[in-house]
Amino acid sequence: MAIRNIREMGDPVLGKTCKEVTEMNPRTRDLIEDMLETMYEANGVGLAAPQVGILKRIVVIDVTGEDPYVLINPRIVESSGEQTGSEGCLSVPGKVANVTRPNYVKVVALDANMKSFELEGTELLARAICHELDHLDGHLYVEKAEGPLMDVQSDSEDEE
Ligand code: ZN
Repeated sequence: MAIRNIREMGDPVLGKTCKEVTEMNPRTRDLIEDMLETMYEANGVGLAAPQVGILKRIVVIDVTGEDPYVLINPRIVESSGEQTGSEGCLSVPGKVANVTRPNYVKVVALDANMKSFELEGTELLARAICHELDHLDGHLYVEKAEGPLMDVQSDSEDEE
């Protein structure tokens, strides 16, 4: 496993649409392991493959620090409600802004063994799912920010 370099806003790779994963292989397994390690090392709650320069539809999310999800080719199939709150991104270091997201989402994805599963999330998990899936289509939260980007007040902010 290895820590990978996190790409930052302005890097063209963050604006690209990622490709579906069609098979699991050692290279992709390594990528997933590295993404988890890189996310934890950066104190993030989520990381998408394009953030480490790989244009594959893979995200990892862990909003509690002990409950990691690997989502391959994820699709949101249901969403409801609304939440507005502070959001950050490992690709936009040191900044946060308010973003409105659904308060509930249901996502269908493949796990690391390419088995289909459903994941439901509310609050921070729903926010993280929406944020990470946006990365797969080349979008950053700053496009949805309500008001200016603000400096992070402490280093304890959750970043995605
Ligand atoms: Zn992000």
